[in-house]
Amino acid sequence: MPAAQKTSWTRWLTFALLLAAGLALAVAAGRWAENAAIERLREAGAQRLQSYALGLENLLSKYDFLPGTLELNKDVIALLANQHDDGLRREVNTYLESMNRLSRATTIYIVNLQGMTQAASNWRLPDSFVGDNVAFRPYVRDAMIGKPGGFYGVGTTSREPGYFFAHGIYRDGKMLGVAALKVNIERLEASWVQGRDRVLLADANGVAILSSVPEWKYGTLAPLAPAVRQELERSRQFHSHSLKPIGYREVRTLDARASVVAVDGAPGSGRMLRQALALRARDWQFVYFSDLGPADASARSAFIFACLSQALLAMLVLYARQRRLGRQRLRAREDLQRAYDHLETMVAERTASLQQMTENLSAENLVRRKAEQQLRQAQSELVQAAKMAVLGQMSAGMTHELNQPLTALRTMADNARVLIERGRLPEASANLATISQLVARMGLITGQLRQFARKTDATLPAQAVPVAAAITGALFLVERRVEQERVNFRMSMLDHDVHALCDSNRLEQVLVNLFTNALDAMQASEVRQLSVTVERTDDRVMIGVADSGPGVPAEIRAHLFEPFFTTKPQGHGLGLGLAISEQIVREFGGLLRVETTPAGGARFIIELPLAERETNKHENFTG
Ligand code: ADP
Repeated sequence: MPAAQKTSWTRWLTFALLLAAGLALAVAAGRWAENAAIERLREAGAQRLQSYALGLENLLSKYDFLPGTLELNKDVIALLANQHDDGLRREVNTYLESMNRLSRATTIYIVNLQGMTQAASNWRLPDSFVGDNVAFRPYVRDAMIGKPGGFYGVGTTSREPGYFFAHGIYRDGKMLGVAALKVNIERLEASWVQGRDRVLLADANGVAILSSVPEWKYGTLAPLAPAVRQELERSRQFHSHSLKPIGYREVRTLDARASVVAVDGAPGSGRMLRQALALRARDWQFVYFSDLGPADASARSAFIFACLSQALLAMLVLYARQRRLGRQRLRAREDLQRAYDHLETMVAERTASLQQMTENLSAENLVRRKAEQQLRQAQSELVQAAKMAVLGQMSAGMTHELNQPLTALRTMADNARVLIERGRLPEASANLATISQLVARMGLITGQLRQFARKTDATLPAQAVPVAAAITGALFLVERRVEQERVNFRMSMLDHDVHALCDSNRLEQVLVNLFTNALDAMQASEVRQLSVTVERTDDRVMIGVADSGPGVPAEIRAHLFEPFFTTKPQGHGLGLGLAISEQIVREFGGLLRVETTPAGGARFIIELPLAERETNKHENFTG
């Protein structure tokens, strides 16, 4: 994976992790706020439950002892003893009526041991209890077996619900009947919460006997066991109410007495806090449902607050980072500026020193150029000196060359004069013609010498020099020696029009040197063969000068081109010829080298740049 891609991948992963952590934190904050709100609701709910329980207990406790006290009335005892005495019955009825009014009970009545109501506070009313058989009612049965009891139920006659108290009536330790009292506790409901909270009072079987929600009344906290249902139907405790379970289910248990429940038809999310308070004395329990709306709202707020805080924090971090980056960037820019300034100073210093160096160099250059000029001057002089030396060596031959025609001239001039005096004019004229030829030949010789001796300017630019002409010119200067020493001269030239890029005078000087050296080398040889060859390539001309002399031994070859190296006797050689020739050739961008011919002689090769391209012609010259 490429580095850049990897970095962006890691960055995304970190971002996702941070986001997940932030979300988890916000959820935790929401949960915490919800729990705190639930805790507050629990406290409030617990207080409510306490006050409801207290209210109920206040209402009921005042009646607990009332039935028991009825046995203190002698008329009651007397009626139970004489159940057919209607006068007594009226007495007791009136008594119960006033007692009922004073105690604010609903109904007070006396039942005989068979369960028949003998007297009742409501004896005047159409639905009077007098004459009713209530033996099947649990509180009556309990009281009959000596268990003073309380019981909530719907009245069989009145169809009105109420709490029934019952207590045995004794005389001398013997039970004569039962005193019963009914209290309407439904009025309590009216004072219970209004609004979204709900409360119910459930009996031992979990049947809601009172409820702030009308639909919940006679509903059950849990489905009833079949046996319990049967018993309830038998005792007609709840008359004909169907006793269906209240629609709610537990979502989260907080502890034994509290849980979060989902309630059908509850407002908002339908979630409520369910709290129970047991009333041990009557085996009842209060169940209080608090609306979780506020808790949900505070959880939501905490979640949003946590999200916003984190977003703010992230923005602050980003801002700080941005600022830090900005500062770093600024610092980097300052550093860069400093480096740039430093660089500029360095460049300025370096430029100054370079300028100084350039000035020094141009001064040195001037000196060098001057020295070169002087050197060239000296070389020029040296070349001239070498030339003069060659001329000096040749002078003996030249003198002979010139003396011979001079002698002939003098003889022929004398002869011409005598012939003219004798009137033999045609012969004199022939003599004069010969004289004229001789003079022309002498002029040619001196002209050639003058040209050779001419001082050339070393600074002249190279020109296209016809190679054949240079060879002929050089050969003319040594022609006499070639003839005298009976040297066989041979020239082989493929292309007669070859031009070399150099100076004609100097090329001639080099060739004269090479010819002279070759003639010197062959003096002791029996076969004297001087061969000149001219070859060319695309851009070079090669002039070879070979002789049939002894060749150049290896130890001499190393020093051949050194100035003043000579093997010739004193007065015959200066040792400058090859040194100067090599330098002349090099000056024109060529080179001078030596090799051994197959016959063992020496072959010098002048290599020069080709001046122009010509079409090849094959020609052989033999001298
Ligand atoms: P110099 O001719 O005055 O001696 P050069 O520089 O012309 O000076 O020659 C140097 C030496 O090179 C000669 O003395 C000779 O020994 C050797 N040399 C030159 N040309 C030939 C040749 N063709 N064959 C043999 N030796 C040669």
